[in-house]
Amino acid sequence: MATPLNRRTFLRISGATVLGGLAVNAGLMPSREAQGAQDTSVIPDRVVPTMCELCFWKCGVNAYVKDEKVYKLEGNPLHPLSNGKLCPRGTGGGIGALYDPDRLKKPLIRTRVGGEEKWREATWDEALDYTAKRLNEVKDKYGAPAVALFSHGQGGAFFKTLLKAMGSKTIVAPSNDQCRGPRETGFELTFGAALGSVETIDIPNSKCVAFLGTHLGENMHNTAVQDMSKANANGATFITVDPRFSIIASKSKYWLPIKPGTDTALLLAWMNVLITEKLYDQDFVTNNTVGFEQLAEHVKDKTPEWAYIETGLEPKLIRETARELAKNAPASLVHPGRHVVWYGNDSQRSRAIAMVNALLGNWGKKGGFYLPSAMPVKGYPMPELPHGEEAKPRVKFPFATLPCAFDACEASAPAADDPPRIHAWIVYGCNVPLTLPNPKRVIEVMQQLDFVVAIDTMPAEVTGYADVVLPENTYLERYDELDNGPYRVPYVSLRQPVVASLYDSKPGWWIAKTLATKMGLGQYFPWKDAEEYLGKRLEASGLSFADLKRNGVLVGKPGPLYATEPAQTFNTPSKKVELFSQQLADAGLPPMPVYEAPEEPPTGYFRLLFGRSPVHTFSRTTNNRKLLEIVPENELWLNTEMARQLGLKNGDRVMMENQDSVKTGPIKLRVTERIRQDCVFMVHGFGREDARLRGGYKKGAADSRLVTRVKRDPEMGGTGMNVNFVTLYRFQEA
Ligand code: SF4
Repeated sequence: MATPLNRRTFLRISGATVLGGLAVNAGLMPSREAQGAQDTSVIPDRVVPTMCELCFWKCGVNAYVKDEKVYKLEGNPLHPLSNGKLCPRGTGGGIGALYDPDRLKKPLIRTRVGGEEKWREATWDEALDYTAKRLNEVKDKYGAPAVALFSHGQGGAFFKTLLKAMGSKTIVAPSNDQCRGPRETGFELTFGAALGSVETIDIPNSKCVAFLGTHLGENMHNTAVQDMSKANANGATFITVDPRFSIIASKSKYWLPIKPGTDTALLLAWMNVLITEKLYDQDFVTNNTVGFEQLAEHVKDKTPEWAYIETGLEPKLIRETARELAKNAPASLVHPGRHVVWYGNDSQRSRAIAMVNALLGNWGKKGGFYLPSAMPVKGYPMPELPHGEEAKPRVKFPFATLPCAFDACEASAPAADDPPRIHAWIVYGCNVPLTLPNPKRVIEVMQQLDFVVAIDTMPAEVTGYADVVLPENTYLERYDELDNGPYRVPYVSLRQPVVASLYDSKPGWWIAKTLATKMGLGQYFPWKDAEEYLGKRLEASGLSFADLKRNGVLVGKPGPLYATEPAQTFNTPSKKVELFSQQLADAGLPPMPVYEAPEEPPTGYFRLLFGRSPVHTFSRTTNNRKLLEIVPENELWLNTEMARQLGLKNGDRVMMENQDSVKTGPIKLRVTERIRQDCVFMVHGFGREDARLRGGYKKGAADSRLVTRVKRDPEMGGTGMNVNFVTLYRFQEA
């Protein structure tokens, strides 16, 4: 049995550090054609419908198989999120992920030989026995909440059950406090409803959509892009508010190149115009809202002229765009965004977005926010889970509905006179060091933990600091938890194996169930296997598992998409849309959004902005050979005039250094007029520094290394990350 290690060093998974080596089974390696060629001349042996996992949109896929090789992926025409189409990541990336030669192929245990740390290949039995023993030791010594789960993705559901069975509610998802949490808080405080994923916005029927820092087209969520294309084809007016001329800006009637961090000023000015010019939906406001008078008073002096000073946007443009939104209401909306953790005032900015939408009267209206429905699917009968507790974070946020991953990380380290509250991490499907802010700090914390187990398909920064690495099957090799919306039509969708496991990897459900059994918690996984688990749930719900396996999705009858009465009921304390929030006032927070000017960069520094590429999902795909063929590295967008002043030109390689003297790079410059002079922009997820990732190693640069500080959202604790500044200098080859 391996000896517990106290302060773990980073271990690459390569021949040099794996005892016994990792032999590639040449017989299982696919041909080049099988690694993603979309060959239309081949007659498939079978076509298996399943659910994509190249990102978390969960589109329906039809996978084509010949000689036990997956050679083509297409959108499932029956699936309401695909409509027969996939995005570029889904099309090529699924096959690239399945046949990635760098995949994790066997369980690994960190061990020490002669003072040197190495990976040792292990059997599943041995790896799970060891993991169960170490987790139970932490639980017995510190209590169940001292075990935390960091999770992302559909398969995380089984590990959440494991944690709850242990009695731990320390379950965190970086997607909450590093992505869309503040949006949900802002909309819950205003409309009493979170927007979820897929967002309940009726873009295909919209006549006018304003996008604030929302990069649809670069953020390639399949259905959202299809919806946007429909609206575009229908002649909808798009308004893009962004320091960068993004893809969606190129489709827009208006581009508002706003000064970064000043969006709340624009939103307050839009409200000022809507109210002072009486352009708001007076019936909707009368029937459905509370606090209109206070709001009118609040925005009285937030004129477009006032906003001009803050945002740099011409008052005329602010008025014109507010009128454009009003003219098309209620079939117009301000898009709520998805990655909204920017400047630390993000719940309030999201609330301001919700309030503009309320003034447009678009909730429950065609072209605004639709009313979703979900297919009811019963759970598997199982014993009641223990009540459980969460490891107490050191800071509390009054409107946090989920524990923050950032705080779970901090609670895993000692503070003055306060020992760590978390001692073991189970990390499922998220590369925590490149996801949470300040990778150096995350790694320091991981090195101090009693135990870390990582479950993933690929080696990554997180697996390098784990004690045990458990290789999961890719999505094309496994069953997973069901997806059942909510959406504009109710549906239930299946992920099922298309081919057998290529390696000694296992599905997440099997890993969680087997680990639970070894920990003495098997009663909480009372089913034999995934087929029985899923089949029984569907049968109990009056649905056919055989039909679901055959079609990949079952679609039900939609409920009413739009409100039929002028007065709706909202899940807020007042049962109305709360323009004035007593909940916020009671918590000592601004009951209506207050504009806070962003901190200015020091001289010679740019504000660092980051976003997505249409063909990558962050570090999840930056080793995927198929996707690297299309976008092999990220680039740094820099304004033409600033490049001239710095003596830099398009294609130069530069290093970046942030306000805390942290450096990263080199990265290729993209000199362009399409970005303001005060900021630079790059795609997140590149700059992998782990040589195991032979496809993505040292391609581009990692923005996450430069995010050494954050500004917390006072409502829910989101970590605003656009508060970092960088200076640039030319890269000198050594
Ligand atoms: Fe897959 Fe693209 Fe759909 Fe994401 S949006 S699930 S990557 S097809």
